[in-house]
Amino acid sequence: MEIKRRISRQVTVGNITLGGGFPVAIQSMTNTDTSDVSATLAQIDNLYKLGCQLIRVAVPDKDALPGLKEICAHSPLPVVADIHYDHVLALAALEAGVSKLRINPGTMATEKAAAQVAVAAAQARIPIRIGVNSGSIHRRYRHMDRVEALVSSALHYCAQVEDSGCGDIIVSLKSSSVLETYAANRAFAARTDYPLHLGVTEAGTLHSSTIKSAMGIGSLLLEGIGDTIRVSVTGPPEAEIPVAQDILQALNLRQGIEIISCPTCGRAQVDVAAVAEELQTRLAGMDISLSVAVMGCPVNGPGEAAHADLGIAFGKERGVLFRKGKVAATMDNAQLPDALFQAVEQQVRDAGREP
Ligand code: SF4
Repeated sequence: MEIKRRISRQVTVGNITLGGGFPVAIQSMTNTDTSDVSATLAQIDNLYKLGCQLIRVAVPDKDALPGLKEICAHSPLPVVADIHYDHVLALAALEAGVSKLRINPGTMATEKAAAQVAVAAAQARIPIRIGVNSGSIHRRYRHMDRVEALVSSALHYCAQVEDSGCGDIIVSLKSSSVLETYAANRAFAARTDYPLHLGVTEAGTLHSSTIKSAMGIGSLLLEGIGDTIRVSVTGPPEAEIPVAQDILQALNLRQGIEIISCPTCGRAQVDVAAVAEELQTRLAGMDISLSVAVMGCPVNGPGEAAHADLGIAFGKERGVLFRKGKVAATMDNAQLPDALFQAVEQQVRDAGREP
């Protein structure tokens, strides 16, 4: 089964295309001091290796600008400058070579200042993400209920930016409420073709954010809405990427290995959780879409996971490697994880790729 994606306007950010049916891109934000270039580039490099595709950095003041220029020059990922209040910083960020500006027109001093940024971005052919959240609702819409106010504010700011000649717009409507995020993005998506950046803001610690993001981002993606996502976690941004990948993978929006592991019961012959964790780490980054099962016993194992492409089921001392529910080999339990790993590698090679 495939999700029917909303066809949104195509916008290019560095080497990534958002919208137009292109794959949903994963993004994150550094939490280093932007003026500390080596720390920021080291974090960007880590995020890149984990699978991040776009990176946002904070530009809180003019002291961050020299570092921003160097970061743009050396980053393996397109850099998005995150700017609040000061339109002069946004103009300087364009000069520094960013691939996208993230502004919140509602926090800029005047509409004229926001328009000036839009004109400069259009001239530089740099897209703008208009970020709207409950703190940046335009005063004209403050009497409305929150969802309608978010949507109306976003439409208002988009019209301003577009009237200034910049049509390369990406929009985010964020709330810390999953329900508001869902309703606002849904309503906005029905009324425009702008590509959407999805995220639940201030989603909390890793556990809380995983749940809220899977619900908020996942429910929209299920309806075909969303072109790029950010899972916000209070903590290291590196923790965000696996969650984002898993959300996309669960919806078949990203290639990757899906590990299916049984919940275990009194029949389990080994520590299934430990084996599944180990395989998840070893198989991360394999360039293929496969479902791989780790089952605790042979009684129900291969049968329960008959839909998996490959799997292992542990026995008392010996267990089985199976393919689509059929036993392919029998061996000692200790050999099964390696045998499964090698079988996946072989599938990758058979697909003409490097494992
Ligand atoms: S595969 Fe075996 S151990 Fe795992 S839940 Fe099913 S019956 Fe229990």
